[in-house]
Amino acid sequence: MTKISVVRSVLKANDAVAEVNRKRLEAAGILVLNITSAPGSGKTALLERTIPALAPGLRSAVVVGDLQTTRDAERLGGLAVEVAQINTEGGCHLQATQVADALDTLALKDLDLLFIENVGNMVCPASYDLGEHLRVVLLSVPEGPDKVAKYPTIFQPADVILINKMDLAGLLEFSDEIVRADLARINTRAPLFKVSARTGEGLEAWYDWLRVQHRARFGS
Ligand code: MG
Ligand code: ZN
Repeated sequence: MTKISVVRSVLKANDAVAEVNRKRLEAAGILVLNITSAPGSGKTALLERTIPALAPGLRSAVVVGDLQTTRDAERLGGLAVEVAQINTEGGCHLQATQVADALDTLALKDLDLLFIENVGNMVCPASYDLGEHLRVVLLSVPEGPDKVAKYPTIFQPADVILINKMDLAGLLEFSDEIVRADLARINTRAPLFKVSARTGEGLEAWYDWLRVQHRARFGS
C-alpha cells in the first residue's frame, strides 16, 4: 500500500508540472506532441523527415530524451529550429520537470510545434504527462502486429498512431489487420497512418494531420 501511494504522489506532482508546461506552451502558440514507441521504431527518423517538410510554415523544435548520448539531438540539430537533449541518466521515461528545464533553453516565440521524443519504452511513458496536447505512438513493422494487444496502456491514450517501416511490410509478411482489430477494442479515436520514414511513403497524410491540429488550436 505504501509503495502504491508513493507512486501516486509522484505522478500527481508530475501532472502539476505538466499542466504548467502546457499553459506556458499554449500561451506561446505552440502545439506540443509527445512521441512514444519502442527503441528503434524510427522516432528520430520520422522527425528528420517531418521537420523540414513542415517548414517554413510551421517551425519546429525538439526535446529529445535518451538514457545516454546526444546522437539523436545531433541528427536533428541541422533541421529543427532548436533542439534540447535530455539525458535521463538511466531513467526509462521523461518527466514533466525535465521538459520544464528544457523549455527554459528554447526561444519559444520562434516556434509553432514542439516535438518531445520520449525515451524508447512502451510501458511507463504512458503514465507521465509532459504537458503535451497530443500523444503520438509509433509502431514499426519489424516489431510485429501484436504490440497493441501487448501494450494497451500506451495505445489507449494515443491521439494518432503511425505504423513505420512499411517499406519492409512485404519482406516481413506484415499485415495491419491484427493492429486494426486490436485498436478497435481499445482506441477507435486515433487515426492510423502507414508510413515509411525511410522512403517517405504515406507521410503526406501525417503532415496534413499535424497542420490541421495546429490550425484547430491556434488558427492559421
Ligand atoms: Mg531516437
Ligand atoms: Zn520509466
